[in-house]
Amino acid sequence: MVYFDNVEVASYLKGELIMITYSVSCIFCKKTFEVVEGTRKYTLYKRNMKGKFSCEDCDSKIEREARKGLLGKL
Ligand SMILES: [Zn+2]
Repeated sequence: MVYFDNVEVASYLKGELIMITYSVSCIFCKKTFEVVEGTRKYTLYKRNMKGKFSCEDCDSKIEREARKGLLGKL
């Protein structure tokens, strides 16, 4: 028996190929979003489960704001 965590054990027992996701709440909008196995965020989450994470919406918002900021300086 392999114990990683509840989610992984469940998929292991079923013997099915399912996507492993974690529900994480966004530090900006406080919405709960899913971190999907294989993504960069999942890797970060696995490394530091107590870390601060932001959802895709906020990520793209921040990116847009950052880009705007950069353009404003030009
Ligand atoms: Zn968010």
